[in-house]
Amino acid sequence: MTERDLLRVRDLSTRFFTENGQVNAVESVDFDVRDGEVFGIVGESGSGKSVTALSVIDLVDSPGRITSGEIWYRNPDLAEEIRADSPEAVDGDFVDVRRVPENIRRMLRGPSFSTIFQDPMSSLNPSLTVGEQIAEAVEVQRRARSNPRSTRSRTQGFGLADLLTSTVLPSRNYVSEESRAEAIDLLEQVGIPDPADRADEYPHEFSGGMLQRAMIAQALAGEPDLLIADEPTTALDVTIQAQILDLLRDLQEDTGMSIVMITHNLGVIARMCDRVGVMYAGEIVERGTLEDVFDDPVHPYTQGLLGSIPDLDDPAPRLQPIEGNVPDLYDDEMEDRCYFADRCPYAMEECLNHPPEFDVETGEPRNGKTEPGEHGARCVLADHEYDPSRALPDDYFESETRSASAPASGEDEEVSADD
Ligand code: SF4
Repeated sequence: MTERDLLRVRDLSTRFFTENGQVNAVESVDFDVRDGEVFGIVGESGSGKSVTALSVIDLVDSPGRITSGEIWYRNPDLAEEIRADSPEAVDGDFVDVRRVPENIRRMLRGPSFSTIFQDPMSSLNPSLTVGEQIAEAVEVQRRARSNPRSTRSRTQGFGLADLLTSTVLPSRNYVSEESRAEAIDLLEQVGIPDPADRADEYPHEFSGGMLQRAMIAQALAGEPDLLIADEPTTALDVTIQAQILDLLRDLQEDTGMSIVMITHNLGVIARMCDRVGVMYAGEIVERGTLEDVFDDPVHPYTQGLLGSIPDLDDPAPRLQPIEGNVPDLYDDEMEDRCYFADRCPYAMEECLNHPPEFDVETGEPRNGKTEPGEHGARCVLADHEYDPSRALPDDYFESETRSASAPASGEDEEVSADD
């Protein structure tokens, strides 16, 4: 942790309570996001990336629920405002957004945390013009700024009363002309040509890249401290992807906001991020600067992800896919061991004892950037070298599947396929 932290997420766990059982979607996740940086979260589908983001902005829907953890957000004004009534939610300039009242949590969406969702076509309302939707977001934030101490004005969206008013008295529309003008400015800021005309068009009249730009404009309406971009380029072709990433980088540099970039694409991480967390089975299994994680990965899963990227300078070797699949994350099916063990080429006896703790390297700063203790992994190899003499037999997990009663090994026990 440093004084430059904007967000400190500690021991965050989110579970889904389904008819088929409890799903541990996010498990004891820790990470920090600093002022003006891009922090990347990368992993396969089903690794818990998006649920982590939804948890931070308090948008996890039933049957999901955050079950533990703290989300500390640096906001000196808010800390001062609630210190007397909610001392347990304040630590210096930081506020634990999980412990502030619900109305204040909602208030933080927009001016504090904003998000760009994966699919702009399904995120925008097809029956409203693009300009109207952005203007409404601007209007909500404008009202909040005009009366910052009013909780109602901070949290109010377009409600039933506004609908009735705008139907009976169209001249008293919820959205002001100032907000409409600001929406057009935002569209121009994100590179939409002829923004005044395009503001009057509906989402189906926009291309995929323009829709994504419109989503970014809407997310910027509250001038957020932190923008969470959840797979913002997944549905776009490669050239448009590059344009959107450049736009996000430019906006981040212009505004100084921080970005959490969620993606399964290591190329996006390499292009955008300052630091990165690698997620697997609901956990962050490796974390560090981009240079540390890409140049000197510790966790075999990170090594596997990087090994599956083609090397343009040396195209001869075959790519090395990671065999197997991400586990289902049902609580009663999770083994009390490293969750990557059945896919790991370095699995050893000790990996079967319990899920490894996150272990940070405390050596000298490397690459001129690493702060001591910053780069680490949830793997026994973060602590000591691979010992081939303690490796599991090649068919250990196949045998384990066949033998439903196979117990986990103790540290000093000999492990075999028959155990
Ligand atoms: S703890 Fe063991 S099984 Fe898990 S990733 Fe590390 S070496 Fe592989």
